[in-house]
Amino acid sequence: MPDFQHSALIIVDVQNDFLPHGALAVPRGDEIIAQVNALSHLGFGAVIATQDWHPANHCSFAPQGGPWPEHCVAASSGADFPKSLDLSPISHIIHKGMAQNRDSYSAFFDNDRVTSTGLNALLSGLSINHVVICGLALDFCVAATAEDAMRCGFRTDIALEACRGINADQSALLQTLRSNGITLSD
Ligand SMILES: [Zn+2]
Repeated sequence: MPDFQHSALIIVDVQNDFLPHGALAVPRGDEIIAQVNALSHLGFGAVIATQDWHPANHCSFAPQGGPWPEHCVAASSGADFPKSLDLSPISHIIHKGMAQNRDSYSAFFDNDRVTSTGLNALLSGLSINHVVICGLALDFCVAATAEDAMRCGFRTDIALEACRGINADQSALLQTLRSNGITLSD
């Protein structure tokens, strides 16, 4: 059983644009929300939700030569949490991808690997030593967040039932995550 007082739940990018009919829909992404809501009420010492939060001309968008369609523009309805997500247990919100010229898959650091979102300091200040990560998309922002959580010294679990990925085959990714010391749970 986790030591909940020193454990945090990190809910990655459960936002309208990543759900079916959103601008960058993760297949079956909506299926996780009931599970995320259940996890968030287990009594974690902190429940942190991240939001992809981009300027309108962000470098990750196709018109700027980036790999993704425009999504999660700051304060747009696409960047909002879905109405079905229970916000009441969420203690902190971390925005990421706010710099025009850098993306941020991880909730800890921008993709330059240097610029911190402040999450590491936040968790350390709360005496958190263990994180459980869920959300969207498993093969991008959830995986990057888990890898950085390990690097920052947290015991790290991914709650797989509360994640969905963009790519259909996740088996190689899961093997890599496991070999890096990340616990994959239901
Ligand atoms: Zn993004």
